[in-house]
Amino acid sequence: VVSRIAEGLLGLLFPSACVLCHRELRGSLVGGICEDCWPGITPWRGPICDHCGLPLPGSIRSSNYLCADCRRSRFPFEAARSFGVYSGALRAALLNLKFRGHERLGTRLGSLLARPWRALESVGAFGAAPVIIPVPLHPSKERERGYNQAYLLALGVCRALRSHGVAKRPAQRVLVRRRVGVPQSGLSLHARRENVRGVFAVTAPERVRDRDVVLVDDVLTTGATASACTVALKRAGVCRVGILTLARATPQFPDVAQFPGSHTPTAPPASSSGG
Ligand SMILES: [Zn+2]
Ligand SMILES: [Zn+2]
Repeated sequence: VVSRIAEGLLGLLFPSACVLCHRELRGSLVGGICEDCWPGITPWRGPICDHCGLPLPGSIRSSNYLCADCRRSRFPFEAARSFGVYSGALRAALLNLKFRGHERLGTRLGSLLARPWRALESVGAFGAAPVIIPVPLHPSKERERGYNQAYLLALGVCRALRSHGVAKRPAQRVLVRRRVGVPQSGLSLHARRENVRGVFAVTAPERVRDRDVVLVDDVLTTGATASACTVALKRAGVCRVGILTLARATPQFPDVAQFPGSHTPTAPPASSSGG
């Protein structure tokens, strides 16, 4: 409450620009985004793949439909769910969070994860009191950025669901990234998998053994990172792993049309190249 009042007062004294529409505004911006722009950040309400949460064309009516990739080979996690599609205002907000130091956006955006959290819970991706773990950055990368955006998102969902018996904070220094890989964007699916192979390690197995885990990240693209984390967690004795991300990148939407190794949910399984 105190920080919100302080933010409001600072906003009155020093007008700042909305990170999405760039208008200079007096008064408080919620997480750097103006009142007019927040409603543009909308959840995906259409059909999804029952296992990996991939948004599907509206023509698919079945409630337990699997996308081509999930029919061919399932991911090692129990299920993945995202708030929305990686495009438009949601994409702009995430890019600001990740690359322009808009750290305060993180926890506000994280509160949106309450919706996919319930979706994960309803499909049995985790039971009571799961450990909440952000996908880690390499320590050198986190120092450079000043924060881990996945941690801020995870903290936001912990706060949003505090009254529902969810952990107060995400667990840190349980899962670590041992190598700085090349950025995943722009790589083929095969290259993405190779890029994260053996990168993640569990350094405190006693904190997760025989527990369920909700793994939080900003964007799920091919699922290569989420799968590599899941493999490390399950080797350390974790029971179930649910993947919770703010956005899902899919080739059906213009912003990610050129994304390599893309999912093709409407094509026959044999022709799909995604993962
Ligand atoms: Zn705005
Ligand atoms: Zn799927």
